[in-house]
Formats: sequence, structure tokens, C-alpha cells
Amino acid sequence: MLNIKIFGIVQGVGFRPFVKNLADVNKIVGTVANRGSYVEIFAQGSEDDLKNFLSALQSKNPPRSAILKVDIKNLPDKIFDDFQIINSVHEAGDIFVSPDISICDKCADELFNSNDRRYLHPFINCTACGPRLTILKNMPYDRERTSMGEFTMCDACAEEYFNPTSRRFDAQPICCNDCGPEVYIIGKNLRGHDAIKFARKILATGGIVAIKGIGGFHLACDAKNFSAVQRLRNSKTRPTKPFAVMFKNISAVKRECFLSYVEKTFLDSPQKPIVLLQKKFGSIAENVAPNINKLGVMLPYTPLHLLIFYFPDELTNFPDALIMTSGNPSGVPITIDDDDAIKNFDYCDAILSHNRKILLRADDSVMDFIDNRTSMIRRSRGYAPLPIFFDSNSKKSVLAIGGELKNTFCLAKNNLFYASPYIGNVGDLRTIAVLESSIRRMSDLLEIKPEIIACDMHPRYQTTALAEKISKELNVPLIKIQHHYAHVLSCMAENNFGGEVIGVAFDGTGYGLDGTIWGGEFFICDTKNFERVNSIKSFIQAGGDKSAREGWRIALAFIKNLDIARKLNLADEKNLRGVKFLLDNNINCVRSTSVGRLFDAIAAVLDICKFSSYEGEAAMRLQALAERSNKKFRADFKDTNEIFSEILNRRLAGENICDLARLFHDLLAEMTAEIVFELRERTKIKTVVLSGGVFQNSLLSSLVFSKLQYRGLKILRHELIPPNDGGICIGQAIFALN
Ligand code: ZN
Ligand code: ZN
Ligand code: FE
Repeated sequence: MLNIKIFGIVQGVGFRPFVKNLADVNKIVGTVANRGSYVEIFAQGSEDDLKNFLSALQSKNPPRSAILKVDIKNLPDKIFDDFQIINSVHEAGDIFVSPDISICDKCADELFNSNDRRYLHPFINCTACGPRLTILKNMPYDRERTSMGEFTMCDACAEEYFNPTSRRFDAQPICCNDCGPEVYIIGKNLRGHDAIKFARKILATGGIVAIKGIGGFHLACDAKNFSAVQRLRNSKTRPTKPFAVMFKNISAVKRECFLSYVEKTFLDSPQKPIVLLQKKFGSIAENVAPNINKLGVMLPYTPLHLLIFYFPDELTNFPDALIMTSGNPSGVPITIDDDDAIKNFDYCDAILSHNRKILLRADDSVMDFIDNRTSMIRRSRGYAPLPIFFDSNSKKSVLAIGGELKNTFCLAKNNLFYASPYIGNVGDLRTIAVLESSIRRMSDLLEIKPEIIACDMHPRYQTTALAEKISKELNVPLIKIQHHYAHVLSCMAENNFGGEVIGVAFDGTGYGLDGTIWGGEFFICDTKNFERVNSIKSFIQAGGDKSAREGWRIALAFIKNLDIARKLNLADEKNLRGVKFLLDNNINCVRSTSVGRLFDAIAAVLDICKFSSYEGEAAMRLQALAERSNKKFRADFKDTNEIFSEILNRRLAGENICDLARLFHDLLAEMTAEIVFELRERTKIKTVVLSGGVFQNSLLSSLVFSKLQYRGLKILRHELIPPNDGGICIGQAIFALN
């Protein structure tokens, strides 16, 4: 008999009937049951039948389900008469909370069927689709414990809710035009369909509308309207950071972007993430994602989104691509309620809201692809709080607070690691308050009482202060973990690998053990210890926080020579002299091995970007230009000082900047691969981990991967956990348990 445990999105998606059906077809006897965080199957039959059953189980699973992991054990046979679905039990310990799921095809059909009683109902949903995490107060998942509790079901909805053959059997957020929540325009007497028509009219005529969604408000405007987009940029004080675009449908996406089969699969998946796609020269305004080759694209995922694009009113020329960017003042988490929306969105021409409360924030997830495999940039709506599985030494419960940038936190228990939705950059006190309340809500939901708190080592991170506070309040130990080690551990966790690895962590900024800034590190480590065995050549960051935004400062620290700096037009005379003075007299100077800053310096030397208005801007623009070069260089090993000089000299000789951007990637990849290879020779460790925000760079990652593979190393990759600081909470939690 086989004991099969299937982890993933396997609840509320018709998984158990599917298993029973397969079992019957394959003459398998046994049982299937929901176990909270997984589905457990006992299956007995002939060897061939079991083989067929297993393969169909994993390849023909229901469309809304997602299998993340399958555990199979052999057990002695028992006596079964047939195959049965066993009733769910709420087992204490392993709690499974479903992420929010995008509207399904059946509900979308009903939405636009004028004979259906939910015709044009903005909150239509069913057992297989709709909000979950963001409307949930407590477990178990029952209506009164969600924000739908305040809406009493009408008789017709109750009929479906209690009918086992209905596709809304036991669907907690079930509602209809008679009994459900309502959309409205704030400050205007416009409700329901009138509100939607009003919002459409504004969007069609170049206005900006704030729209309440699943996990927070979006700011929307016509993505082809340059001046509307510019007005949004000016109002949001967001000069160049790319905006995401929601397209009406796949064919509109294809008109503007290249779309591979894998990309399409994820773009159109039940999670509906933002997918970064290669732009074509289409009609999307150029200020939507300036200076980069990619566009963040998503498809409508709520009934309200569909109504905004397709509402059957007299408007015939409605845009098929809308900016949909998180609605938040800069530095603050996404807005979720009306009072804040009124305060924050005074520049919008309308606010389209609704009265179904959002209990937990969830920004849209963002996904890129490297060598046709996913590379998660922001793991949030649709994915959080799906746990990942890692065999730890201890099954204690942990709260890991995460980092300061792109914050997410992680709750763990019984080898299940639940990362939260995206919180954001925790520099602002308002964000700390949101982080704290989100931690409370998630621990209640998952019934996890932390016995250990974990956080970064940075003495000035707000997250460190919060961790200290919580550890005192709960009277439990606090463990601090080095930033880059946590990066490497997060990747080991994602791959459930606990052995020794060569860990490479390249990122922007992290607090090093010696008080300097780290960010270009080579470790030998396992889940208990790490040793920093190498790093890139250190350089000086002059001018505190400014050095993280102004790449020319780093470039000057490398060049050291004002004449050359002037020739490159790095900055005006006053600034050049100012920073030279700081460097010469060691004032406000910190030693750094940050690869992120090295990218900034190269971008400044190549006159691609001297000031970054958002984190990673210089690196993204450098990559975008490198991808335009088709020159093949022979890259020999050079350390980072030599790489810098090489690029500088070629630049002074007037070589093409796209080619030089490409050469920089080649040289950095070669250096990385060579150092790893040498470590492998020395230690005989064959497994390598690449982590840190720099590895979001798909060109660099792809080059390093192929060089390492060629040299026979086994690579653990990030796929669904971000390599950036959004992933480190998981690494922190792993360390705390080992
Ligand atoms: Zn549905
Ligand atoms: Zn109803
Ligand atoms: Fe980092």
C-alpha cells in the first residue's frame, strides 16, 4: 500500500473527487482525506495500476490546483473494499490557508450571461475561485470568520451553499446581486453598475481612478495615454520606476509583448501574477517602463476587473491596457480602506471602492523568467501564505521578521514555513505598524505562537528593533542572522537542501560581521554555520545613504582621479570635489563589497545612470543595454578592480556602451564561476547556491548558471522564493531551527 501526501493548493479546488475518480478508473482501493495542509491518500492496487494512478495524479490534476510536493511511503497492505473520500478533520498544528484565487472561467461566463442571477455581479465567486487569505479572520475557514460574515446569504445563495452538487457548495464568500457587497464611488451618490460606468468613463478619457481590489487599492489609468501616465508619476512622486499594466486579454498582451508558452502559462494561472515580458515596439506609452526592455504584465483576476474592461455600456473605445499599480503613498504599504484612500488619493479623479473589508494586505506578485524557469521577484497575492517544506532539526515555532527592504516575514512550525504577503520597505513608522499588525493576524490565522524570534543583525534596522520588542513581550529568545547567510539559506530552504554548499550572495546592502557593508560574498555553509571564504574586492562608499543611490560616487572611489571623472562627466565640479574630499580624508566613508553598488558604478561610468530613483534602477538599465549588444567577448578571469579598469579604459577609448555593458556581465560571471570552481577544488563541495537581489538579473544569472553547469557543479536555484530581501525571512527561520 502506498501512503501519498500531496502538498500545495489542494483544498477548495475539487481535489478529492478528482482523486476518487482516478482511483476508480485505475482499480485502486483506499482513502483520500484533507489533512489541513495537505491531502493524504492511502492507495492499494497492482503495481501497474498504482504506477498509472500516480502519474495521472501529478499530470492531470484539476486546473485550479497546484502540486508543490509529493511524499510517497510504502506501507504494509490493509483491507479496503473500495476507494472512499473521508471527511476533513481540522488537525491542530498544520494549518492550510488558501491564497486568493483569480476568477474562474465558469464564474466569468456567468458574469456576462444576462440570464444568470449573478449577471454583472462584481463579487461573483465559487468553490474554485475568489478571495481567501485577504478576507480571513480565523481558522477554520467558515463564513462567519471572514469579512463576508456581515453579509447574510439570501435563500437562493443558501440553497447553493448547502447543496453538495452545486459548484458553490461550502463556498464561504458566496453572494449575489441580492445579498452581496456593493461597489460605489466615494463622495458621489453612485453605486453598483452606475459606479462602474462612471469609473470607465473617467479611465477612457485619460483620468486616474483608484480601484479597491483583493489585497488593496490599485491606481489605474490608460497605459497608452502618455500624459495620464505622467500625471500619475508626478502625483505619486515616482519618476521612473516601472508601472505594471493590466491587459484586457491575451491577444492584447501579444500585440505589445513577446509571450512564450511558459510565460503564458503563468500569466494566465489561477495566481495571476505580474509577469515581466519582453516589450515590442507597440502602443504602450514609453513612460510606463522607461529605459528597460521589459514590461510588467497581468491579466484581470477579479470580477470587478472584468467589468471595468467589458461592461456592456455605450463606451465603445475603452482602453485594453490599464496601468494597475499598487495604491500607496511612497514608502508606505498598500492602502486598504476608504478613510486612507480619501487621504492618499486626493489627486485621483475618482475612487471606486466596495464594502467587503480587506483584512490582510496582499500586493500583486511579480515574476520573471530565467532560462525558461520562474524567478520570483515579489511573492505575495496568489502565493502567500502557501508554505514551503524544509526538514529542520527542530519543529519549534518561529517568527522570522525579515529584512528592512521588500519586507516579508515568516512563521514556521512543524517544518512548514509560511512566508507572508509583501509588506514593503520598513523605513517608515506606518509600515512598522502594518508589519506588526500583519504578524498578529497571520499568527492567529496559522495558530502559531512563536517560541523563537529571528531577525537581521543590522543594529539600525527597524525590523531588528521590532524583533527585540516582540521577543521581550513574549519572553522568548531572539536570534540574529547575518543578512547574506540568510539569503543563501532561503535558497537552500526552497530546495529542501540541508547539506554543505558553496553559497554566493550578491546584493545591494547588508550588514557584515565586521561592521562593513557586505554584498559580494562567497560562503562555505550549511544550516548551522557559515564561513566567509571570499568576497569581491572591497571599495569605498562615500556619503552615507546617498552612495546607495548615486553610482557616480562609487565610480569616483574606483577612479580616484578628478581629471578622468571630469572627462566622464560623472558629476558637477562641486560634487566631484566634495566627494573627493570625503574619500581623501576618510570622512563618512564605509568599506563595501556590494555587487549592487559595483553595478551602479559601472552604469555611471558608461553614462547609463548616475542617479537611481529606485532600488536596482542602474542595474536594470545596464542589463537592458547589455541585451542589445550581440558582441561575443572572450572573458578571462579578472577581479572586480581589474574589471572596473577594463571597462573604464575601453569607455575612455570610445567603445560602444551596449557592448561594454555586455562585457561587464561576461567578466563578472566569469569571475564568479572561477571563484566557485576554485572553492570546489579546495573543498570538494559540489553544490552551489546563488542568492541575493543581484541574481534577479536574468542575464548575469543565466551566464553564471551555464558556466557552473559546464564545470560540473550542481546549482540550487531560486524559483518561487525571491532571491532579493523578500526571501530572507525564510532563511532566518531556517537558521533559528538548526
Ligand atoms: Zn468561480
Ligand atoms: Zn444571494
Ligand atoms: Fe539583501
